[in-house]
Amino acid sequence: MDNSVSSAEFDRMRFLDTILATLPEAVAIIRLDHRLTELNPAGLALLGVGSLDQIPEDAPLSLIERRHIPRFKTQFGKAVSDQPDELGEPLLIDVNALDGERRSVECRMAPLRDGDGRLAGVVVTARNMSEREHNLRTITESASLLSAILATVPDPMIVADDHGLITSFSATAETLFGYSEQEVLGRNVEMLMPAPHRNAHGGYMRHYLETGEKRIIGIGRVVEGLKKDGSLFPMELSVGEAKTGNHPTFTGFVRDLSEKFEAEARMQELQAELVHTSRLSAVGTLASALAHELNQPLTAIANYMSASRDLVDNLKPETAAMLREALDESGKEALRAGQIVRRLRDFVSKGEIDTQILPLSKLINDATTLGLVGAREKGVSWSIEIEPDIDNVLADRVQIQQVMVNLMRNAIEAMERSNTKHLAIRARPLGTEFVEISVADTGHGVPDDLISQLFQPFISTKAQGMGLGLSICRTIVEAHGGHLSVESDIDGGTIFTFTLPRASRENDNAS
Ligand code: ADP
Repeated sequence: MDNSVSSAEFDRMRFLDTILATLPEAVAIIRLDHRLTELNPAGLALLGVGSLDQIPEDAPLSLIERRHIPRFKTQFGKAVSDQPDELGEPLLIDVNALDGERRSVECRMAPLRDGDGRLAGVVVTARNMSEREHNLRTITESASLLSAILATVPDPMIVADDHGLITSFSATAETLFGYSEQEVLGRNVEMLMPAPHRNAHGGYMRHYLETGEKRIIGIGRVVEGLKKDGSLFPMELSVGEAKTGNHPTFTGFVRDLSEKFEAEARMQELQAELVHTSRLSAVGTLASALAHELNQPLTAIANYMSASRDLVDNLKPETAAMLREALDESGKEALRAGQIVRRLRDFVSKGEIDTQILPLSKLINDATTLGLVGAREKGVSWSIEIEPDIDNVLADRVQIQQVMVNLMRNAIEAMERSNTKHLAIRARPLGTEFVEISVADTGHGVPDDLISQLFQPFISTKAQGMGLGLSICRTIVEAHGGHLSVESDIDGGTIFTFTLPRASRENDNAS
């Protein structure tokens, strides 16, 4: 007999060997006497052994569950009797593997012939069905795990497929949105959002699926939610993505922000209330100085008027000229008194925050009308320098006046015992975006250990002080997008500086 093997046959055998070694299914050759003679690695694993010689002589019959042996033999018989119709029909049997496991196995059998065409045995392929069962069980378990999560997850959770169709809706989502899971399953998540988010959502999703660019996934956003009863509420939405097979699944966690928003709105109301109250208290402390300040023009008016009345009695041309002058002066004084009263009325008005484009010079001059009330009597001199190329700022007039009045009143108080009493107000541009306004005094200054705490509420060195003024000033300036700071002047005294956003000429024209 010629035992030599051609190189093509040799290649083919190597190829078959490789297939058998890597095939996930078990392949065995069983001789006509039921002896197992060949088994690939998947087959060894199925029978729970490391090599063929660990398998008992009487395998496979000795390893097949007893009640399945007749079924096996029948199928074997059919395979060797070569009835093509029945060939390849799957046979389900249990195998008691040598590693102690019982495995459920799906087998197929085909006759094996030798080189002369004589029947030599059967090729059995077998697939471990226990794994599939295991997988199925895992899937069922994950599904019940998911429903347990959905039932207990504290934040409402919505799962949607890549078309935006809802596939799960947690118990808390049901409570929040007012829909039952049955009502929303299979419907588009857009039903939970009002327009324009609703219309934008489909676009977001398509954009993401097409480009992979994340606009919301993994980021979280505050958007509006729509309940079944039609009411809207603010919610934080965090979206995650999971790939199941080839299809992405989107999970959305919702946090209801209604309470947080209400609390913030309430805080803002309280803040506005505080800012207003502090203005009222500023006016309270100004009251006596104001009475004095108003008294001056009013007394002047009264004097000019009585002089005028006397002059009317003997009207000569030069008396007429004096009369005209007296009337002019009283007119001016009346205007001055009126201006102080008007500023005061604006200052105590409540009003909404009203940010406007305002000329800085006017803002500063209006603020000094009130802030410097009574300063002259205390021997305080002042200067106002506004650099010429500053134009408009974006500010709430009354609130910025409040800041300036506060800084000026503090400065005047700090200079009570100083020999030099000078208040310098300066304004200059700070880059293209901001202006910087400073209020510098020649007062007693601030001790180093106190300077970092000045803006905290209730920090005061004054017997009657509340220590709220500067903290309110900082709140106001920061609400304008600016910054308020303090430094000690090298010549003694203190400089408070704050910034305000500039309003460009374009804004100016637009307004
Ligand atoms: P209050 O005036 O009620 O004390 P503020 O918040 O306006 O509250 O001021 C806090 C403290 O900051 C004052 O008590 C004072 O010690 C200090 N301070 C404020 N402005 C000046 C200033 N121009 N010079 C020195 N100290 C100042």
